[in-house]
Amino acid sequence: MSQKQDKNNLRDKDLMEEIAALCKRRGFVFSSSEIYGGFSAVYDYGPYGAELANNIKSAWWKAMVQENENIVGLDSSIFMHPKVWEASGHISGFSDPLAECKKCHTRVRVDHLLEEAGVFADEKMSEEEINKLLKENREKLKCPKCGDSDFSEAKEFNLLVQSNLGNFTGDWSKNPVYLRGETCQGIYVNFKNVLDSTRVKVPFGIAQIGKAFRNEITARQFIFRKREFEQMEMQFFVHSDEAMKSYEEWRERRWQFYIDLGIKKENLRWHKHENLVFYAKAAWDIEYKFPFGFKELEGVHYRADYDLKQHSKFSDKDLSYRDPQTNEKYIPHIVETSVGVDRTFLAVITDAITKEKLEDGSERTVMKFPKNLAPIKAAIFPLLKNKPELVKKAREIYENLKSQYMCEFDDNGNIGKRYRRQDEIGTPYCITVDFETLKDGTVTVRDRDTMKQERVKAEGLKTWLSEKLNS
Ligand code: ATP
Repeated sequence: MSQKQDKNNLRDKDLMEEIAALCKRRGFVFSSSEIYGGFSAVYDYGPYGAELANNIKSAWWKAMVQENENIVGLDSSIFMHPKVWEASGHISGFSDPLAECKKCHTRVRVDHLLEEAGVFADEKMSEEEINKLLKENREKLKCPKCGDSDFSEAKEFNLLVQSNLGNFTGDWSKNPVYLRGETCQGIYVNFKNVLDSTRVKVPFGIAQIGKAFRNEITARQFIFRKREFEQMEMQFFVHSDEAMKSYEEWRERRWQFYIDLGIKKENLRWHKHENLVFYAKAAWDIEYKFPFGFKELEGVHYRADYDLKQHSKFSDKDLSYRDPQTNEKYIPHIVETSVGVDRTFLAVITDAITKEKLEDGSERTVMKFPKNLAPIKAAIFPLLKNKPELVKKAREIYENLKSQYMCEFDDNGNIGKRYRRQDEIGTPYCITVDFETLKDGTVTVRDRDTMKQERVKAEGLKTWLSEKLNS
């Protein structure tokens, strides 16, 4: 039997380091281009990380698209017409004021700097007002790198990442193309296409999962803030009279999504935006308790008719909707739910990582992933690798199960070591073929969480596993 987990005894910093180290050691997350020294705030998902990220995306897609008759999927391009970003306000407004630490020259986002100092900066503040605030709170500021509080004045810095796509003249500063800074713009510009090509009627939603790019200044907190990241966004188009009700429904449903996903309730909370951007009517974030504190996981925002109006104006196309029953013509309002795959990944890992002291005094690290998110569902071992009858039977079982689930065959090292390896990547079941198997056709199945073992008929393993994984 295991003792009570002691994860909570780890200091927050230790927990973050433990997670990052395990993610690297066990092939979940690597620094990008590591052999060249890495590339700041860009990360790669390794073999188990890719599985986990895919499982997260599938769970979201199922909850948002598959299970909702009135939500359809989309996969729009990363490159878009540059005018999209003018219409969206990203070219003029998607900038964060930065201040530079005079001692170590680290550039820090001013809103983060002030937030850490317990001072609130309104998004609508001018550069002048921000600088006044910085000056007034000077002694409270703290550089995240060196701890100093002497900062330069704040300057605006655009977050959109530029590209030279399709520009053959060489001077691409004049007509820059951008890598999308958020996926939802692809949804807005396809609103009419979806309306004209499918049978959707307002209220309906369009959902998509895709990469987004931002020139983030503060490159820290592991995969929480990446420069290339992935978003899962759903835009729900609704009549203005119904919008607030729909907004409240979506707030509830998105909260429930995380509970259903298996995230611990005590690690989630709501955060209300008090100072809204001028067009928004309501904005709440779901925050998760990451090792560095409660931070935004998902935004659920009521954006009114701003987005479609802007794109109507900039494209000169009518993006209004005519109700087939009432004949009313209007620009639908939008309720948006927006979450990052990477932040969900980090939340799932933070929730799952557990250290346990065992009865024999040893320790194990186990990822208690919800079963549907576990990268590998079952590992199949022959007890001994030099006994061909055991290896043959174990291979047979592996071949049979792999068509249905991500499985792993492992004959390396003693069984205890193989269990530890699977614990660290969160595999719910380890199946061992031993000498008894050859006699009575049963295998040993060991449960990740309880470490209890039971004998199961090899013949019925597929059904047994399905029942267990879906329970
Ligand atoms: P923050 O204030 O933390 O920078 P944001 O308010 O700019 O986040 P949104 O523009 O609302 O974020 O993006 C929606 C979601 O996309 C966020 O809730 C988050 O999960 C994810 N996201 C945003 N920026 C990043 C990033 N740099 N790295 C990873 N995920 C991100």
